[in-house]
Amino acid sequence: MAVFATWNAFNDIFNVKRSGLFVRAGWDLPWAQQLTPREQLLKTLYETTTRVEDDDAFDSFTQQDLLDYLGTHSPRVLFVGYGGTDDWAHEGKYDLVLQAAHQDDQFISELWNTMQSVPAYHDKVTFIVTTDHGRGSGLEQWKNHDKDIDGAENIWIGVIGPDTPPLGEMANVPRVTQSQIAATIAALLGQDYRAADPRAAPPLPVARGWTGSSIPPAK
Ligand SMILES: [Zn+2]
Repeated sequence: MAVFATWNAFNDIFNVKRSGLFVRAGWDLPWAQQLTPREQLLKTLYETTTRVEDDDAFDSFTQQDLLDYLGTHSPRVLFVGYGGTDDWAHEGKYDLVLQAAHQDDQFISELWNTMQSVPAYHDKVTFIVTTDHGRGSGLEQWKNHDKDIDGAENIWIGVIGPDTPPLGEMANVPRVTQSQIAATIAALLGQDYRAADPRAAPPLPVARGWTGSSIPPAK
């Protein structure tokens, strides 16, 4: 598994010291001794670019670091955390939120096409695209998110992959929650997360064969 994220908190979220996972997050990345010219350029940009947020690097930098990695590695599970839209929203710059969202769309598309071009991944990869929180709305509250801001609890989850029927935007389905993503990842890899931890939420109904009528009951 590999983790690429702009927010340096992912070092703690993935508990690097205990898990030993390969994590590259934030501005201060663990660079190798020997770097290719491209890696050296990227390192220089990481070190010399003026930061908007001290704990959140730019999506464009993380994307290039990730593409480098995928040129020589084939992780079975990949986590990518883009932070640009959140940064610009906290800055109150709505035009740049839209620009960052559009750019992140391009990054996800680029990542999808890059992986589809590799035989080991072709038609075998599922992307689960989501957000860790919503935001408020109205003239001021869209800038922030916390437990006291109405609407910040609402998120969306998009799934695309060979086992997932293309059902489009789904409405009138029972409530699904972020807590179901872990078991969903496990299920798509042929594992039963709830067998290991019965307290875990059930997987999302995104596997092959699901037609919209057999959502597992929420518990
Ligand atoms: Zn935020």
